[in-house]
Amino acid sequence: MDKKNKLSILIVSDTHEEIDNLNKLLEECEKNSYKPDYIFLLGDIVTIPQGEQDNENKYENYYKIINQTLQILEKISPNVIYIPGNHDPKTLFDNDNKIKFGNSSINLHKKKYELNNNLLLIGIGGSITNLISNEKEYYKYEYNINNVEWRGYPYIDNNENPNFEKCEELFKKDLDIIFNYIKDNNKQIILISHNGPFNSSTSNCFEKGKCFYAGSLILDKFVCESKNRILTVLHGHTHTGTGVSTLYNINIFNPGPMKNGHYGKIDLVLKDDKWGLKNITKLRF
Ligand SMILES: [Zn+2]
Repeated sequence: MDKKNKLSILIVSDTHEEIDNLNKLLEECEKNSYKPDYIFLLGDIVTIPQGEQDNENKYENYYKIINQTLQILEKISPNVIYIPGNHDPKTLFDNDNKIKFGNSSINLHKKKYELNNNLLLIGIGGSITNLISNEKEYYKYEYNINNVEWRGYPYIDNNENPNFEKCEELFKKDLDIIFNYIKDNNKQIILISHNGPFNSSTSNCFEKGKCFYAGSLILDKFVCESKNRILTVLHGHTHTGTGVSTLYNINIFNPGPMKNGHYGKIDLVLKDDKWGLKNITKLRF
């Protein structure tokens, strides 16, 4: 555990196998002598097509890329904390972490990590299913497979005909596990999640001339219920609705995809025993 009163964290997401961009990021950090205390990697390290995440026969090459990704980031800071995305292999969601990736990186899916005195990091990977629609109330509509834009992984109830509410129920089961970590203490919290909250513009996706809402309502509820303790929610998944938004006065940050050269930084300061968010910076090369 770190005893510092300042923390600088590099935020990277949706790398999607773009090793060249990770090397560029390493160069950029070296050029600016930027040595973050931590790196948070928010999932979609590889790009397994929808429905193939469980196909272990194809894992060998994906494992190579995941290791390469983490090892490049570990050169920037050995303290890499990551969560899997919906395009990552099933093994990254195994809570016993039988297979270790990178050298010093930590998989935080459904886990907690003491960042510092009084500051707890909790993580949840994966995503729920989303429809494509211009209607924000779409989740109340009858599901039709033709309207499913993104199938969630691993939070999907039925591959043939997924249902938003049932996907949310599955997501809630795992979120309840991390809620338990914060129940018996008053520590401040940072949540890292691949999927963003529903009513945050950072979860909106603009594709095929339409906007669709790729967030989770269960996450909104979590932010509302814990708003006195959450410092920030950091997420990835949506490549277009990036940047900072606020939900119940909490900063929600999606740095955007490293696949396209997007990344971010946050700076935290400890004052009178309370952590504060000093800066959120969205960057791009
Ligand atoms: Zn994703």
